[in-house]
Amino acid sequence: MTVLEAIQKSTDFLAKRGVESPRLQAELLLAHLLKMPRMKLYLNFERTLAGTETDALRECVKRRGGREPLQHITGSTSFCGFEITVNRHALVPRPETEILAELGWTFLASLGSPVRAALDLGTGTGCIAIALAAKCPAARITATDISPEALALAADNAKKNNTAGIEFRHSDGFAAMPKETVFDLIVSNPPYIPTAEIETLQPEVRDFDPRTALDGGTDGLIFYRGFAIEAKPRLKPAGKIMLEFGDGQAPAIRKIFENEKWIVEAVKSDYSQRDRILIASLRG
Ligand code: GLN
Repeated sequence: MTVLEAIQKSTDFLAKRGVESPRLQAELLLAHLLKMPRMKLYLNFERTLAGTETDALRECVKRRGGREPLQHITGSTSFCGFEITVNRHALVPRPETEILAELGWTFLASLGSPVRAALDLGTGTGCIAIALAAKCPAARITATDISPEALALAADNAKKNNTAGIEFRHSDGFAAMPKETVFDLIVSNPPYIPTAEIETLQPEVRDFDPRTALDGGTDGLIFYRGFAIEAKPRLKPAGKIMLEFGDGQAPAIRKIFENEKWIVEAVKSDYSQRDRILIASLRG
């Protein structure tokens, strides 16, 4: 079988299984297996695949057809230019979360000296914390997660990206954070899907991202209610919080924070122009 035939066959199979952008997915899988950039496949359409290559491709395409996310099969994804290893213990980093990370490091960098402190609550793969640490090497970055397996993955990712200075802490929200530690910046991409909606999500998310990373309780807002209260004593007077949230949640989230006397400074939108990130402070 040639490269082109393999792509066509894989595309047909993935399309039948309801995979979005089946041709692109087939190409990405084959490029991964052949260890070449996707575009280089186009120069190799006539190349005949070795039996071992065809076997490996068949295995990968079968997994993808079972709606396993591409990133779980290739083992990693890119986040703000950093290579992040992924597995079933943490949410696959999403492109929109890159906006949150960039807002975070831009704010942190704007503060200048002395040493600044930032917290990433619910770090998952560690993607946000790693981006902050890499872009603001002078800052002290702490990252927490409720899952010890996610923390192990995050620490491994930090090491691979030369941001080993991040302090990883096993904690349910702020519970295990020492009371006296305060931050200039607290970022989080918490679970925000209403429980009943999880079943309606695409299988890649529903069956492969950890439930704890998705489930935001009955209305999806349980994390924000707690955070609006618990984050107050953890923030320095001029500090800011930056939180990702889900589609249509902006008005409810604004209310939650304003009721707790936060000043909502901005609501930023994502690449599809949907409200996605809340920026708030206690002082304005
Ligand atoms: N902070 C991680 C991310 O943004 C994990 C978020 C989560 O599990 N809800 O990818």
